[in-house]
Amino acid sequence: MVANEMSAEVSSVYVMNAGDLLELAATEGLRQEAIGQTRLRVGEGIVGLVAATGHVLNLPDAQFHPGFAYRPETDEEPYASMLAVPVRRAGRTLGVLTVQSRAPRKFEADEVEVLETVAMLLAEMLAAGGASDAAEEGVMSTAQRRFAGSMLVPGIAIGEAVLRGAWHAPHATLADDPEAELARFQAAAESTQRSIDTLISERLPEGDAPREILEAYRLVAADAGMSRRVMEAVRQGLSAEAAIHQVGGELRDRMRRIVDPYLRERLADLEDLSNRLLAALAGPKADAAVPPGAILIARRLGPAELLDWHARGISGIVVEEGSPGGHAAILARALGLPTISGARGALDTANDGDAVVLDADEGLVVIRPEHEVRTAYLAAVQLQTERRAGLAMLRDKPSVTRDGVPLRLMLNVGLALELAQLDLTGAEGIGLFRTEIAMLARGAVVDVPEQVEVYSRVLDAAAGREVVFRTLDLGGDKLLPGGPPAEEENPAMGWRSLRIGLDRPALLRRQLRALLLAADGRELSVMFPMVATVAEFRAAKSLLLAEARRVTRPPERLHVGTMLEVPALMYDLPALVCAVDFISIGTNDLMQFLFAADRGTPALAGRYDVISPPVLKLLETLLSHASPAGVPVAVCGEAASRPVEAMVLAALGITTLSMPASSLLSVKGFLATVELAAVRAVLAQARAAANVAASLREPVTMWAREHGLSV
Ligand code: PEP
Ligand code: MG
Repeated sequence: MVANEMSAEVSSVYVMNAGDLLELAATEGLRQEAIGQTRLRVGEGIVGLVAATGHVLNLPDAQFHPGFAYRPETDEEPYASMLAVPVRRAGRTLGVLTVQSRAPRKFEADEVEVLETVAMLLAEMLAAGGASDAAEEGVMSTAQRRFAGSMLVPGIAIGEAVLRGAWHAPHATLADDPEAELARFQAAAESTQRSIDTLISERLPEGDAPREILEAYRLVAADAGMSRRVMEAVRQGLSAEAAIHQVGGELRDRMRRIVDPYLRERLADLEDLSNRLLAALAGPKADAAVPPGAILIARRLGPAELLDWHARGISGIVVEEGSPGGHAAILARALGLPTISGARGALDTANDGDAVVLDADEGLVVIRPEHEVRTAYLAAVQLQTERRAGLAMLRDKPSVTRDGVPLRLMLNVGLALELAQLDLTGAEGIGLFRTEIAMLARGAVVDVPEQVEVYSRVLDAAAGREVVFRTLDLGGDKLLPGGPPAEEENPAMGWRSLRIGLDRPALLRRQLRALLLAADGRELSVMFPMVATVAEFRAAKSLLLAEARRVTRPPERLHVGTMLEVPALMYDLPALVCAVDFISIGTNDLMQFLFAADRGTPALAGRYDVISPPVLKLLETLLSHASPAGVPVAVCGEAASRPVEAMVLAALGITTLSMPASSLLSVKGFLATVELAAVRAVLAQARAAANVAASLREPVTMWAREHGLSV
């Protein structure tokens, strides 16, 4: 009716699901099979843009709008014009209503008004239907719900939901006897400390212990600051529970305002600790049994708690908040537990014991999956098991593409715990050793002898394979002795990384000395992060050379390279390639600075693509200078770990790819099936098209599928 009234061929309703995805819920004119299939993130495509901004878009030629996202399953090519209005109620966007017509035209003002009125009525219907409010109103649903997040650890798991409940308010707020209450708190604090010690000594993952993380946690647990604040609150008359609740609540509020992911994680440790204290106050109680293979759903998760749950037999994790560099994520990776984060709404929607399918590869969790979904995933798990066994066999095979191009596949590593992966994956070395991770896990600047110990362990484990040590890449508000941390509007672009190193050279020099001492005459590769100008690189390099002159056994060969993360370096390539021994592209930061798109903002995830004309052009320009100068170029950002991106990078000529251990064998297996020459032809054709798309992913993946490659 709507389409008819508006003289349009198409009218569609997209409804925001609890995972913040806009799902095609009804359509006249688009393919019916796309209903429930087509999903857009907020900010993605015209529909996502309307949801994000809350503004109407009235476009005579929608396909030329920069935000247009083509979805082949909807069959929407023939429609030129599009009018999209938000469906909003009580300040919340519930969905988007669209009409599309074949003829390019701008819809009249009164037509826009009609559609807005329809959207208003639709909002009431959606709210009355309870689709978006069921969880808030406590309605127990049995319907399948999907939530999207981002993958922290890949893999698929199927199991029953166990919920790590949200913060529960204490029963008694006030205490009659503060002294007795203080004693209760102190007893609880001591038993918590003991339980953490036991956890550390008994429940570590097998192999090399993740000492750094656990010792950091121990430091947090022993931190007098939190105890002091709780005790102050108890002295003012609060019960121990209420005091912990209050101090914890303050921390949570602070946590929300903190941008830096590492600091956020440190506070997540503190929240974990608050929960432990509350549990200790509640007295001994048998841990509720967890069904084998359960999937844990939590708001946030600290490292100690993660070890607890792992020991109780969970098979996967869904967190609503958590960053890939966080302690819990690092441990989950080390334990091989499929994990996604950012699945907002999952905790409120799931009930204990609900069936859950976790597809971390796709960043997806399905709660109460429909029968067919569950069956399909059971088959996928079976395949995954077979695939893992198959991948392990790839370990000792040479890394080479189908058309014979050799590849150097290396590991990104941050903790000693991960060194075992060198042999498990058959990697050619470590292409990125993030030195700051171990230090952050410690929570303090580590002195030279201790650094030497860490770095020499890494070199020993590498046993002659190359290790590229990246110097400290810390944020602007950490590790600064004395004085309050600087307030920064944009910490990612602030006083961080090499900038701190050059402004506080003592810190950087100590690290460089530790690296040289650890090498103890062995070959050494050092790389500087966040280099913005060639002068910065030269300054950093001269600090390294000065330290190298001081040690008694300088390395037999010293390679000094730069990360390419700041686009400005691209405009001084002739000087850069003369100054450096190698270049490693940090696609995570490079993409965020190139497209001015914060790497941590979920609404922007997937909006800009590495496989796109500007990035390909950038890489080609870089290679056109680096190759003649004999400067090797590698990629160590996350892009290298995704098979399709890895294929495109290799096709351009970047064959040294450094990635997390969990991706290495699948990238290796995939590239072994690829002819790079053919990929180059597909790219050339896609780039020559008259209206070249913002992303070239579609033609590349289509080609790969047509040729039987498993993308
Ligand atoms: C990058 O920016 O791509 C990179 C590898 O560094 P990090 O992810 O540690 O910032
Ligand atoms: Mg970076």
